[in-house]
Amino acid sequence: MTKPVILTGDRTTGPLHIGHYAGSLANRLAYQDSHEQFLLLADTQALTDNAHNPEKVRRSVMEVALDYLAVGIDPTRTTICLQSHLPALAELSMLYLNFVTVSRLERNPTIKDEIRTRGFGRDIPAGFLCYPAAQAADITAFKATVVPVGDDQAPLIEQTNEIVRRINSTANRKVLPEAVAVIPKAGRLPGIDGKAKMSKSGGNAIPLSASPDQISAAVKAMFTDPNHLRVEDPGQVEGNVVFAYLDAFDEDKNAVEELTAKYQRGGLGDGVVKKRLDGILQELLAPIRTRRAQLSKDPAYVLDVIRKGTEIARDRTNATKREVVEHLGLFRL
Ligand code: ATP
Ligand code: MG
Repeated sequence: MTKPVILTGDRTTGPLHIGHYAGSLANRLAYQDSHEQFLLLADTQALTDNAHNPEKVRRSVMEVALDYLAVGIDPTRTTICLQSHLPALAELSMLYLNFVTVSRLERNPTIKDEIRTRGFGRDIPAGFLCYPAAQAADITAFKATVVPVGDDQAPLIEQTNEIVRRINSTANRKVLPEAVAVIPKAGRLPGIDGKAKMSKSGGNAIPLSASPDQISAAVKAMFTDPNHLRVEDPGQVEGNVVFAYLDAFDEDKNAVEELTAKYQRGGLGDGVVKKRLDGILQELLAPIRTRRAQLSKDPAYVLDVIRKGTEIARDRTNATKREVVEHLGLFRL
């Protein structure tokens, strides 16, 4: 029996953070046996808002690959591949751009949001505006039906499926399957500064590779309830980053419930809650850090994993591209 295919990936804009862990890595680990899984090191997508800094995009390829391996992605069960070395993705992107309008791209809630936070104003790189079509190419080139992502990405999967339906209707047959976004219960992890999303580019992240001191410093600096001035004051947990992280990472749900109630009543200081969170994050990240340090001593191995995975992915994506070109009825030589 063939397993359902999963495609996800990460922009190579820096090392991955605990938001990635809660938002998608944990799911990806869980799917390694039940699904055929591809992980895309999305360097061409990273370039859509980093064209001025290709060095960062290049360097981050190894960083993200190290993070994958360090959290337990097993290259014998999951294929890790590099976007810029899969020409079929670029070719499919060009085809798909004819099946989406500029106004639809501009209305995509994820894109709208990202344009605002990146402060592009009217100077939006064309590649950035069009990356939903490129992402549709990534997903469909692998014929992925399952896409585990953070909730900020859901509109992109919707847009992918719109393109899929147009292609299928033009081809008059089901050339490509639609995909389902799998969004974890934890949803979107806020940044340590209280902003709605922890992100590599936002300077508000705790990287998976953080040292014990960096973790403690980040927890200390974490945004809580600015009106919770004295221990006996009632505190607010909505928008309180420490509680958002406890919800995401503390496995003892009863304890979190009790702490939450006590904090809301008054009588629980930020320091106590932060200490608990610090312990939990230290425990979560220690084995990842150790494994990452070991792996980073052997870059040739990591490179080999990426090379082999990219080769496998190249065959797969080329086959889909040929099918799409054929069924769209383009000229055949
Ligand atoms: P950048 O700031 O460069 O865009 P990023 O931190 O947003 O980086 P991406 O590579 O864009 O990371 O996202 C990769 C995947 O991780 C996506 O599925 C995204 O939804 C998920 N993700 C990223 N940040 C978070 C977060 N804070 N909480 C939950 N999921 C997240
Ligand atoms: Mg992002």
